[in-house]
Amino acid sequence: MAGEDYYAILGVTRSATDDEIKRAYRNLARELHPDRHAGAAAEVNEEQFKLVNRAYETLKDPERRRQYDMFGADGPRAAAGDPFSGFGGAGMGDIFEAFFGGNPFGAQGATQRSGPPRGENLEAILDLEFAEAVFGCQKEISVRLPAMCGTCAGRGTAPGTDPVTCIDCQGSGELRRVRQSLLGQVVTSAACPRCSGTGEMIPNPCADCRGEGRRMEESTFTVEVPAGVEDGLTLRLADRGAAGQRGGPSGSLFVHLSVASDERFERQGDNLHTTLTIGVAQAALGTETDVESLDGPQHLTVGPGTQHGHVERVRGLGVPHLRGRGRGDLFVHVLVETPGDLTPEQDELLRHFAALRGEGVSPPGTTSGEGVFSRIRSAFG
Ligand SMILES: [Zn+2]
Ligand SMILES: [Zn+2]
Repeated sequence: MAGEDYYAILGVTRSATDDEIKRAYRNLARELHPDRHAGAAAEVNEEQFKLVNRAYETLKDPERRRQYDMFGADGPRAAAGDPFSGFGGAGMGDIFEAFFGGNPFGAQGATQRSGPPRGENLEAILDLEFAEAVFGCQKEISVRLPAMCGTCAGRGTAPGTDPVTCIDCQGSGELRRVRQSLLGQVVTSAACPRCSGTGEMIPNPCADCRGEGRRMEESTFTVEVPAGVEDGLTLRLADRGAAGQRGGPSGSLFVHLSVASDERFERQGDNLHTTLTIGVAQAALGTETDVESLDGPQHLTVGPGTQHGHVERVRGLGVPHLRGRGRGDLFVHVLVETPGDLTPEQDELLRHFAALRGEGVSPPGTTSGEGVFSRIRSAFG
């Protein structure tokens, strides 16, 4: 863990010899060994015991000690961007409270140590029409959330007044306490409770936000919905969440998309599926027709001898790819409809056609609409 000062833990100087380190470790280990203590104290001591062991494992090995001296406990990678790392290597004997389980900063502690805290992340649902999701759109959304107070511009102060420096932390926003322990000097650091880490106190709070610098408001803005989004997808809008207190940065707004279905089209990934119903004669002889697409009617040639269930693929008329260029395809499923409402003239023509094809057909007068199964049933019923 970055910030662990192994020298301070063992109570030796940074120039200690191997023998001095070994002696210090033995003394501490004897003192802290869990077997020597009972009950609640044992648990605390076990943690400290592990810490002492960790320190010794590093410092007794010349190569690991050299690495530690240069980069701290986490090695080279952590040393670069870790806000804590400066303390571990500075030889001040600092240990942060976090090691003992009580991280005063919570989840945000590692990245944000002082100044007004960031506002909360919030969620909202955005309803989209089928085509809006396919082609993208600009959509207004209204969310009730803590927004920056306009009266005080987020400062939290009444008009004409100013904040004053926090008396507890002297404006630093954090409280550090130094105490002596078995492990040497222990420094704890926590956000100052009096000023919530802002370093300032407000003697005359703004009446509209009671000094918070933010208040509940209906916020309406436009969401840029990219083409190709799907039902269930979530957009993250940075800085559209709750405003932070006293001018702190805003959280994120997570917008969950709810996309309406379209009875004409079924979407499968970036492809669209639709149906085209044609007559028996059209299927046999072929036809030129229009099919619906989201881009408007599209001319389609149905070849002679097209079977029921045939699928025609129209390239590029599907959904634009959300990531990358291009679009999916439109698949047209051809349904051949058998006529059930023949006029006497059509009936006669089809009988002639059947005779020419050598296809046996039912004799005239068979009740239409009665399928083969119901005739079987009536024959045996
Ligand atoms: Zn303070
Ligand atoms: Zn205000």
